[in-house]
Amino acid sequence: MNIYFYNTLTKTKDEFRPLNGNEVRIYTCGPTVYKDATIGNMKSYVFMDTLRRVLKYNGYKLKHAMNITDVGHLVSDGDDGEDKMIKAAKEEKKTPLEIAEFYTKRFLKDFDRLNIDKPEIICKATDHIKEMEEFVQKLLNNGYAYETSTAIYFDVSKLDNYGILSGVDLRNQKAGARVEIDEEKRNPYDFALWIKAPENHIMKWKSQWGLCYPGWHIECSTMSNKYLGEVFDIHTGGIDLVPTHHENEIAQSKGCTGKIPAAFWMHCEFLLINGGKMSKSLGNTYLVQDIIDKGYDALAFKMLCFTSHYRNKLNFTWDAISSSQNALNRLREGYKKHSEGNSKIDKSIIEEYKNKFLEAINDDLNMPVAMSVVWDVVKNENKSNQLANLLLDFDKVLGVDIQKENREKNLEIPDEINLLLEKRKQARQNKDWALSDQIRDELKEKGYIVKDTKEGFNVEKI
Ligand code: AMP
Ligand code: ZN
Repeated sequence: MNIYFYNTLTKTKDEFRPLNGNEVRIYTCGPTVYKDATIGNMKSYVFMDTLRRVLKYNGYKLKHAMNITDVGHLVSDGDDGEDKMIKAAKEEKKTPLEIAEFYTKRFLKDFDRLNIDKPEIICKATDHIKEMEEFVQKLLNNGYAYETSTAIYFDVSKLDNYGILSGVDLRNQKAGARVEIDEEKRNPYDFALWIKAPENHIMKWKSQWGLCYPGWHIECSTMSNKYLGEVFDIHTGGIDLVPTHHENEIAQSKGCTGKIPAAFWMHCEFLLINGGKMSKSLGNTYLVQDIIDKGYDALAFKMLCFTSHYRNKLNFTWDAISSSQNALNRLREGYKKHSEGNSKIDKSIIEEYKNKFLEAINDDLNMPVAMSVVWDVVKNENKSNQLANLLLDFDKVLGVDIQKENREKNLEIPDEINLLLEKRKQARQNKDWALSDQIRDELKEKGYIVKDTKEGFNVEKI
């Protein structure tokens, strides 16, 4: 069956075929490891996981690289502000390397909790400094870059169509409107490839232009080229990466090889919290750990992601995660009931379900439609092992562990109890064990038992 993906580059749903035989080469922009990844970030990686699983389900082999940004991503996403890694290192009184190791581990732990199928290659920016320097040198040799007193810049005016992905028209952009004016820059939208490190900058490497550190965009062009070649099949990331990061990746690759590096560019829309942005000041930057701490299965978040198309915004609320937990329980119960049944199902019915499911996932990963097929199978009155096996087959794409027994709880936890759980969590973080025990007793009086686990804690109704 044909596969169609929406391509940000062409702005249409295009038929997908690998450039080379049966192997699909993918590059995903990975996390900047200066703090914990939020459930917003995880929406983008659930999309990445679904893409991998759908391609594998269709019989393709994957060669997929994802970077870990551990240098060069500045606070502004552009060329100004402090390096996010250095800022975090100062705040946490650790070295940038310690910060990177700590948060990379936690990020990959969330991958495991969400059953995210990991890319074959996970590569760190700081392991590729030499290759990045060579890439910059090539851009200088090809006439696409120039040196100033502070950096090596990419000259966007050398490209005939900078802005091909986002449709930005540089002729309509005024200097200083969105980017800082730098007298030495030839064009306001020129971006830094290689930055000369100020005296007391902690992350810097010896290079032919003195002690420097790389810009953020150059790492992805360098590593995708190294691991996947000049042109590969699919490039993915969150929607916010389109106008700057991905545009600049395309510019760099065109300057180096003359080619756009990927045939398909796929982007995941944002997760909203209670209809708005996630932000520290609103105190709503939730992590996968927060979902677990409230007594839900992390995979309930994956079920929530499947309720909307990856190209649509998704609204996170605690009510929504509670419904998704119920849906996950129903799915697992449905599987169990079928596996214990012995009705005989006509092969043509199984084929029809399978085709509908395949049609949905191959239509630009349409998970809401795919899930409606899953529910039709679950609800089939004739309980049959054949349908259990079919659900197991669908779970290769969902990755929600449908064979797992439901935990009895997944209760509707009242706000009052949630508040106490949150207070107890804080107390434990502050190592205030006396307060933690006191709250546990209070919860018991109200009919709830808390059990601490390696992952956080579980709550059960007495
Ligand atoms: P970062 O660690 O900031 O480099 O981001 C990692 C990935 O998460 C990128 O692909 C972002 O586009 C994506 N991302 C960030 N915030 C959200 C959000 N609220 N919803 C979906 N994806 C996001
Ligand atoms: Zn990237």
